[in-house]
Amino acid sequence: RLIAPESKSAQEDAIERALRPKRLADYVGQAKIREQLSIFIEAATRRQDSLDHVLLFGPPGLGKTTLAHIVAAEMGVNLRQTSGPVLERAGDLAAILTNLEPHDVLFIDEIHRLSPVVEEILYPALEDFQIDIMIGEGPAARSVKLDLPPFTLVGATTRAGMLTNPLRDRFGIVARLEFYTPDELTQIVTRSAQLLNVPIEAHGSLEIARRSRGTPRIANRLLRRVRDYAEVRAGGRITQDVADLALVMLDVDHGGLDLMDRKLLSAVIDKFAGGPVGVDNLAAAIGEARDTIEDVLEPYLIQQGFLQRTPRGRVATPAVYQHLGLPVPGRDGE
Ligand code: ADP
Repeated sequence: RLIAPESKSAQEDAIERALRPKRLADYVGQAKIREQLSIFIEAATRRQDSLDHVLLFGPPGLGKTTLAHIVAAEMGVNLRQTSGPVLERAGDLAAILTNLEPHDVLFIDEIHRLSPVVEEILYPALEDFQIDIMIGEGPAARSVKLDLPPFTLVGATTRAGMLTNPLRDRFGIVARLEFYTPDELTQIVTRSAQLLNVPIEAHGSLEIARRSRGTPRIANRLLRRVRDYAEVRAGGRITQDVADLALVMLDVDHGGLDLMDRKLLSAVIDKFAGGPVGVDNLAAAIGEARDTIEDVLEPYLIQQGFLQRTPRGRVATPAVYQHLGLPVPGRDGE
């Protein structure tokens, strides 16, 4: 899926790394988080202390990993990166923690997917910079306390609600990333085009920005696909018209919705009479995992006012009918 904010190839990973802003000043948007972080980072640096633990949440592709790297760069420390599902045993985490240098940043992506045994180890590590590890087995087993250097955990998750309460309580800084405005995404597209040496006009950047689901990762991905189109069909330069033609070819409509978005919205309307429909029924109807709907598809559709989440399920708003060119129920004498 072209527009999927997640699921990347190794090649795309490399390109993303190249496009990633390295300092807070180059990080576009998220003004509130940027201001908070810059104050906390400066205070910690002045006290020669580690930064408080940071929890970042928000849909994929909004810049959580980028921000974790920036925090480490601004603190002048190393970043160690891992993810919830990768840490299977308590020992996996213990090995990482005991190898940290003072004030290092440990970035755990998908932190809501930590196993309970690993999470247990993490609590005292976060609170007292200590871990308890078991040595040996059976009756001879004993628990040993190890001191850790003070460090900063940056945790990332798509939904804060999926974290256990004791884990969430251990973060001093909790920040929710918002979808980016077309203006902010235009800045990102323009900057990426410069780095990739792609000739692009201001209106070309804006067109891509408007159709990127408020998400920098998608904006950068669309830019590369539109560049391909421009090179093969339009002499290489990305104008607004070229961007529009390329995006239509890629099945990204004028509102920036892709096939999956439209499939989901059409299902709510055609199969469930506009809702309310429970997310499990919706998942079965369109053949997507429930998590994909909740983490990837629906946040943007809700933010755009296409979908409403009610206690009884998802409901299509009049805006969807208009967007899909369908008569709005209850209007025009229906
Ligand atoms: P997440 O970890 O939330 O899934 P990433 O941090 O991997 O998202 O961001 C995806 C890509 O989007 C990055 O490679 C980066 O180039 C771009 N990006 C994200 N946030 C910003 C931003 N605020 N300013 C500029 N580029 C950004």
